[in-house]
Amino acid sequence: MTELKYLNEQYLYEDKGKIEQIGKWEDGRDFVVLVSTIFYPQGGGQPFDQGIIKSEVVSFTVEEVRFKDGVVYHVGKYESGIFTVGDEVNEMVNIERRMLNSRLHSAGHLVDIGLGNLGYKSLVPVKGYHFPDGPYVEYQGEANFPEEFEKQLEEELDRIIATNQGTKAFVVESKSDLSKYCNFIPDYIPEGKPIRVVILFGEKGFPCGGTHVKSSNELVKVYILQVKSKGGNTRVRYELDK
Ligand SMILES: [Zn+2]
Repeated sequence: MTELKYLNEQYLYEDKGKIEQIGKWEDGRDFVVLVSTIFYPQGGGQPFDQGIIKSEVVSFTVEEVRFKDGVVYHVGKYESGIFTVGDEVNEMVNIERRMLNSRLHSAGHLVDIGLGNLGYKSLVPVKGYHFPDGPYVEYQGEANFPEEFEKQLEEELDRIIATNQGTKAFVVESKSDLSKYCNFIPDYIPEGKPIRVVILFGEKGFPCGGTHVKSSNELVKVYILQVKSKGGNTRVRYELDK
């Protein structure tokens, strides 16, 4: 099992590490497994990190990061040399990409908080797509939204962003503790296992393993492109300020 350092140290973009395993990924590219990692593997609607893992003589470009059976695989290519198990290395995450992903992902939470604040609490969140090419959040359930609801929601998000409140993450011991912090607890969360809770902007808590902005003002502006109920679902498409 890889120690997931990004969970407790979300803002660590450079770290020392140790090679635990090397090999070939399913598509033929090389992979590297570390004892602990600061690289975020794709999941929860958030894209993977990219970056570099290097020792004094070896340099490895991390193109893709995947999580499988408790292990984080850094998939990519060697620029020079090849690692040996036990090598001491430096991990360097591409900060620009991570920060964009953290902003897109946090904006998804913000949309959710905004909808809740405006009274649409019966919509059940089922999917988040926090990728740069057309991010959205999707809910089970439909609602009759008023005219120009996009503008109304956007104004609520502006208000929360302007409060400049921070985010905090901590671990609770079991699913039953989640109800203290979170309005919605997904079915897939296992019983009897520690779960990470993230509280954003002094508002709502979410069980979440993603990475987040430090405070709401980092989001600058979130545009609501469309809120649409169709076929039993509601989708909210949003966009960040460029
Ligand atoms: Zn999150």
